[in-house]
Amino acid sequence: MEKKKNVLIVTDGTNATQKMASGIVKALKGARIVSIEAADFGGQDILPAEVYFFGCEKAEPISFAYFSRVLRHINLVGRPCGVFSPQSKEAIAYLADLVHDSEVALYAKPLFEKDIEYVKSWTEQVISKGQSFNLDDYIGKVPDFPKKGILFYDITTILTSPAAFDHCLDNMVELYEDKNIEAIAAIEARGFLFAAPFADRMGIPLILIRKKGKLPGKKISAGYKLEYGEAEIEVHVDDIPAGKRVLLMDDLIATGGTLKAAYGLLTGAGAVIPEIFGIVGLPFMNYQKNLPGVPVRTLIQYHSE
Ligand code: AMP
Repeated sequence: MEKKKNVLIVTDGTNATQKMASGIVKALKGARIVSIEAADFGGQDILPAEVYFFGCEKAEPISFAYFSRVLRHINLVGRPCGVFSPQSKEAIAYLADLVHDSEVALYAKPLFEKDIEYVKSWTEQVISKGQSFNLDDYIGKVPDFPKKGILFYDITTILTSPAAFDHCLDNMVELYEDKNIEAIAAIEARGFLFAAPFADRMGIPLILIRKKGKLPGKKISAGYKLEYGEAEIEVHVDDIPAGKRVLLMDDLIATGGTLKAAYGLLTGAGAVIPEIFGIVGLPFMNYQKNLPGVPVRTLIQYHSE
């Protein structure tokens, strides 16, 4: 599926930068482009984009202050940013410093036809690099943890990379935004980390499935077997929306034992679970056998240890 690319252009509103912005718009036909003026920015939501462009004509403290304010609202770590100024090397240097963790292309002159070609090829290049993003690079593999013989897939490196974390959430939203999901239920503790921002992005309730003894209210519980050990999970009865479509998720699906127990709890209380989701799937651990008839989707699968 070819996803439309989001591009955000922030300018200081001067004619020269606006002109460069329209050059970029022309060069990037087919992208979804939002252009804002730094001075008009009032702290509203900013489009999460694949590529950002910032254009400032002159090195003036007031313009710099406007840009700093906008940039405080955007997480640019690892994001491609084009920085341009038709007038001033100081403005370029200032903006480049503000976006210093990003991949930066600099344009220090008005954009002529050949520069537009350059903008186009630079953007295509950084976008296709983003598309070849490999989630595997962000999953640690720790042998013999927590017990001998277990290869532990560590997702903490996803969380310490805003780009990898965003990649997961973007993919989750893309998978489920048209699936009429009315709530998400997640397993303690790592499942919560992905389910909470997903619930927020989707504007749906989040149901916590916790380990025994953590929930204060009226609850139901179920025991289950783990790849390494046994455990019991609980959920507040009143949190389960009877008759509603609840996506059930965990960070990793191995034998599917945990999710099977959670599935039983939720469906037993009347929820409908159309699908189960995991960031990581280990199909060789046979989770699908434990979850008969429920489609399971994961962002990355490992087929053997
Ligand atoms: P399971 O019930 O076998 O599907 O196990 C899934 C739960 O155990 C998830 O909450 C995982 O976080 C955790 N888990 C099981 N096996 C592993 C593994 N090899 N690496 C990391 N986490 C695991």
